[in-house]
Amino acid sequence: MSGNTENRNIENHNEKKAKGPSTSNFIKSIINNDIKAGKYGGRVHTRFPPEPNGYLHIGHAKSICLNFGIAAEYNGLCNLRFDDTNPVKEDVEYVDSIKEDVSWLGFDWQDRLFFASDYFDQLYEFAVELIKKGKAYVCDLAPDEVKEYRGTLTMPGKESPYRNRSVEENLDLFKQMRDGEFEDGLRVLRAKIDMSSPNMNMRDSTIYRIKHSSHHRTGDKWCIYPMYDFTHCLSDSIERITHSLCTLEFENHRLLYDWYLDQLDVYHPQQIEFARLNLSYTVLSKRKLLRLVRQGYVSGWDDPRMPTISGLRRRGYSPRAIRFFAELIGIAKKDSLVDLSMLEFSVREDLNKHAPRIMAVLNPLKVIIDNYPDGHEEELDAINNPEDPSAGTRKVPFSKVLYIERDDFMEQPPRKFFRLSPGREVRLRYAYFLTCQSVIKDDTTGKIIELHCTYDPETKGGSSPDGRKVKATLHWVSARHAVKSEVRIYDHLFTIENPNDTEDGKDFIDYLNHDSLKVLQECYFEPGIINAKIGSTYQFERLGYFCVDKESTDTHKVFNRTVTLRDSWAKHKKR
Ligand code: ATP
Ligand code: MG
Repeated sequence: MSGNTENRNIENHNEKKAKGPSTSNFIKSIINNDIKAGKYGGRVHTRFPPEPNGYLHIGHAKSICLNFGIAAEYNGLCNLRFDDTNPVKEDVEYVDSIKEDVSWLGFDWQDRLFFASDYFDQLYEFAVELIKKGKAYVCDLAPDEVKEYRGTLTMPGKESPYRNRSVEENLDLFKQMRDGEFEDGLRVLRAKIDMSSPNMNMRDSTIYRIKHSSHHRTGDKWCIYPMYDFTHCLSDSIERITHSLCTLEFENHRLLYDWYLDQLDVYHPQQIEFARLNLSYTVLSKRKLLRLVRQGYVSGWDDPRMPTISGLRRRGYSPRAIRFFAELIGIAKKDSLVDLSMLEFSVREDLNKHAPRIMAVLNPLKVIIDNYPDGHEEELDAINNPEDPSAGTRKVPFSKVLYIERDDFMEQPPRKFFRLSPGREVRLRYAYFLTCQSVIKDDTTGKIIELHCTYDPETKGGSSPDGRKVKATLHWVSARHAVKSEVRIYDHLFTIENPNDTEDGKDFIDYLNHDSLKVLQECYFEPGIINAKIGSTYQFERLGYFCVDKESTDTHKVFNRTVTLRDSWAKHKKR
């Protein structure tokens, strides 16, 4: 696709934003109606509530863009709240990485950084209030008995024999739970709702469980911890959230969300569910991503093959590209699998506009220009970014010995191969016309070692005064000036489209793509690249977009391929 079309897409997206609130998704329609009806006094206040048990991934980015985006669009507020109720799985490392990722994406929670654990005292009091109202009880059933008593989707549950304990006994036992009198799992506090409810979440859900473990914020203050459902609605209520946006798997929990708030008669936010992002050839579950990290299938949470925000950042994605992707996929009520090429399309759109161009040869073949004066060199003008005239030009050195891409030469070219071959003339980008005269091979292996060519000095800048045409333009690097670097080429991490939906007896790990990383050690670059900063992105002409990896040093650069130049999704769409 042409660069112009790409620019237009991004601009349309900006125009949409500039016009202010629209009804472009069902959540905005709900909010618009709420504002019209004066609900919540016309306020809009959302939150992004991650559990700090892993690094954020592109699915979370969708939720971040939605929550912070809606707040911005309606002049409202969005909180960052850590849902840190499970001390066993949570860690400050995750808290820090999540804060970094949300800021990096371009969102600001200002002074509204909260932790559910900050509410533990209040939550405890709410639980006591439920007991006093006869709406909660301490249950001594063992975990497997609780499960058995719950029944199934087709069978009603059975009431716990402890369900009718007196308020006094419940208060006393709950206090003992808190005081550490019992071992883990011995008792729980449960809501007293309805064991025959068709909604399993309403069958006397657990409110508090005993867990003698240190919490990364509250230390050893607590040995009982509140469950997600109880914590979440009340945290929303305490923070006076208006619209609590969550993913579809919580649809069945909404009744319980509302039940707690109604029983306690507190401020009542509204839960609205949307479809979570699923991406082809990718897993988006922290549990699975954690396994990839722990078991060493990837180098870490920020491995450039990971769908984590830190992985995408290291791969060369900009926050702009990720926000554009979130806008592109939109918000729906039904789950679907988004094609990974849409994510690639988003980063390509962005980098096409912003990434400076350079010439790099990843798989070098030496070219000697026999009629170029020995020892001579010159500097040629090259355009930094044809999409952005303000990016200017640079000088690229040219001399007698060059590297070109091995793929750009064929000794016996098939009919549709228009690049270099014996006797054929091509253009060297920004330089001269070049004709291949002879091929030198290794006597034993037959491998091509170098090409001997001639150039036409009249064609400086890449055009011929006599109007002669060539069918191909090749990129190149002057051997004497080249900087040698490493390039890492990535492919999908999984071999099947939906690794979450595996065949019987198989695990997502069984579908790992063992060729997802290819390291090229002998790549040659224009000399200017030596100043490239970690994290900066470039278009290597004709090859794709690449980003300087954090493992680079002043003298040795490592590049990650962000994405190829080919645009399969846009083509797909046109069909
Ligand atoms: P995971 O399944 O990856 O562990 P989670 O839902 O348990 O994710 P949380 O930290 O609880 O992770 O998620 C924080 C917020 O991000 C929640 O509101 C959740 O609904 C949302 N979220 C998580 N995964 C996705 C996704 N794939 N698409 C959209 N939103 C998501
Ligand atoms: Mg969760």
